[in-house]
Amino acid sequence: MQLIDGDEVRARLTYARCIPLVRDAMIALSRGETRQLLRAILPLGDGHLFGIMPGALPGAMGGRGVFGAKLVSVFPDNFAKGRPSHQGVIVLFESEGGAPVCVVDAGEVTAIRTAAASAVATHALARPDAARLAILGYGEQAATHARAISAVRPLDAIAVWGRSYERAQAFAARMEAELGIPAHASVEPRIAVGEADIVCTVTNASEPILLGGWVRPGTHVNLVGSSFAGPAEADEELVVRSRFIADHRDGVLAQGAEFLRAKAAGLVDDDHVAGEIGQVLNGTLPGRQSSGQITVYKSLGHVVQDLAAATALYEGAPS
Ligand code: NDP
Repeated sequence: MQLIDGDEVRARLTYARCIPLVRDAMIALSRGETRQLLRAILPLGDGHLFGIMPGALPGAMGGRGVFGAKLVSVFPDNFAKGRPSHQGVIVLFESEGGAPVCVVDAGEVTAIRTAAASAVATHALARPDAARLAILGYGEQAATHARAISAVRPLDAIAVWGRSYERAQAFAARMEAELGIPAHASVEPRIAVGEADIVCTVTNASEPILLGGWVRPGTHVNLVGSSFAGPAEADEELVVRSRFIADHRDGVLAQGAEFLRAKAAGLVDDDHVAGEIGQVLNGTLPGRQSSGQITVYKSLGHVVQDLAAATALYEGAPS
């Protein structure tokens, strides 16, 4: 059995590689070519979670197929201790004999594939001239999102907001040095968002840090930080004002907190989820319908993204 650790994932799962992998996986998901269960989340107390995400890609490995699961712990308080909040493994099985063939570090794959999925959505939904990015949050996903979004749109500016202005400044300086794109910290999220064409929310906030009233017409928003029916990073107004695209419709109807809050308030019904990003990508659902429309991509994260990344790493592993 192969073991692919975090260093190897970081070295080999580049954005140039991961973005098309995730794109294809989301198209396969929307075509019904994958199998999956909705994720199960086991609360461990103290805000700690254990997520179990099973799925199968029958078309992978030249049609031989793979299946497997991501097992991931989520310990949000690790951020303050300088440790990753998401840790775990992806276990890959081959479908001919049912043998486990590979174990991959899930923390690194999650960091990269989530941002790659947002980049795929941004490429499909943001205005072609979108050049100013606002990132709410300055943790691991914030960094991977800056890298991935800059791979699909030439960015003029990155604005960063977080609860600590000093940490936002340090993050902006780090990203500017790494990416060569002017980056600055914003004192308030409203200011960062009001100047942006593309907004990514990547925080652990349990109550909205993004209000729909701040978002300019024509903006594309990736809502990423809340991955279960509980914490919501954006308010109901953003949901109502936007063309709302899911990574996986069934998942968002069951676990998409921002959507569920707007629905509970009686402001939208299930039809407000226009469809899935895979449908937009395969041309069966219109994406952005006008330059003034606000588009939202709701990311819960999906096991097909993990399995696609793990399969590519396994197939390309030096023997
Ligand atoms: P990190 O722990 O690295 O960073 C967390 C960030 O959230 C920090 O910037 C932290 O800064 C900020 N934060 C925490 N609490 C609040 C708050 N109340 N208001 C505003 N900011 C807050 O986490 P990751 O970057 O790995 O993940 C970010 C989020 O994305 C998490 O909620 C995670 O569960 C989610 N996620 C979603 C995925 C998906 O597929 N959709 C996949 C992976 C992660 P500070 O504490 O200084 O304010």
